[in-house]
Amino acid sequence: RAKARGRDAVERFNPSFAHAADRRIKLSQRLRAALESNAFEIAYQPQIDVHTYEVTGVEALLRWNDSEMGIVSPATFIPIAEDIGLIGQLGEWVLHTACKQAKYWSKSHPALSVSVNVSPRQLGRGDFCEVVRRALVASGLAADRLELEITEGAMLAPGAVSTLQALKELGVAIAIDDFGTGYSSLSYLRTFHADRLKIDMSFIRGIGSNHADEAIIRAILALARRLDFEVVAEGVERPDQLAFVAADGCRFVQGYHFCAPLPADDIPGYIGKFKSGQRTHASLHPSA
Ligand code: C2E
Ligand code: MG
Ligand code: MG
Ligand code: MG
Repeated sequence: RAKARGRDAVERFNPSFAHAADRRIKLSQRLRAALESNAFEIAYQPQIDVHTYEVTGVEALLRWNDSEMGIVSPATFIPIAEDIGLIGQLGEWVLHTACKQAKYWSKSHPALSVSVNVSPRQLGRGDFCEVVRRALVASGLAADRLELEITEGAMLAPGAVSTLQALKELGVAIAIDDFGTGYSSLSYLRTFHADRLKIDMSFIRGIGSNHADEAIIRAILALARRLDFEVVAEGVERPDQLAFVAADGCRFVQGYHFCAPLPADDIPGYIGKFKSGQRTHASLHPSA
């Protein structure tokens, strides 16, 4: 009763908020249905090693095209899945599917890795390491072909560091996603040594126009060199952005300049085409 009254009040005074709330409720319902009907897909975005000009890995990115709501961005539905307690199940599906897919690719591309995004809620669960181990066993994927992407904030949660340590002992690589945007102090870099830092694309966007963004990128690359992290630049869309990060020692690059996220079936074709294309376009290599 009070709840219903509260809702009336919201609708009377702020119609746009009520609309947003309705959409959230609808999205929550559709999300549950989507999990049951297997309506999710994964797109894979190639990551390129700028030293060798090879595709060394792919990032698994969740896609949802709902029959009623159309395409919904993960930036919209992941937080809802977290709030309504579905992220564990959804995240486990992504892990299993991505590991199976990578195992399949490994027949023709044995060095290829797959990176999977992990929500803080997943990492915070005591059984997360076991969930990962099960996905590796079920798929037959070697642990060192899997990388988990964790945000800075997630590393600060209680128990996170010991879970990450256990994952590393399993042989899984850890990347810190959206590096530099997490409002966290750098001291966590001391507590746990991840394998890679992913420079957030908001910094990459400022290359050529924003001095602060350029300085931050350089500082991240210098820090990574000193502390022995590999670095991935995210959201590289233009040749000048590629040249900037590569000149300062960034080894891995991901972004529309090379390739948008692709359906799984298109990945082997892209890798083949990229390899032969690079032989004839060696000038793209910033140090060439
Ligand atoms: P993220 O992990 O930082 O992923 C990078 C995002 O940047 C992806 O957006 C990707 O499509 C986009 N992107 C890649 N290259 C470019 C570029 O050159 N320019 C621009 N403008 N964008 C580029 P997407 O797929 O919409 O995913 C958004 C976020 O949703 C991800 O950010 C990640 O935080 C989350 N997410 C996606 N899939 C999953 C998942 O399976 N589990 C969890 N927990 N989160 C996921
Ligand atoms: Mg990511
Ligand atoms: Mg990111
Ligand atoms: Mg992000």
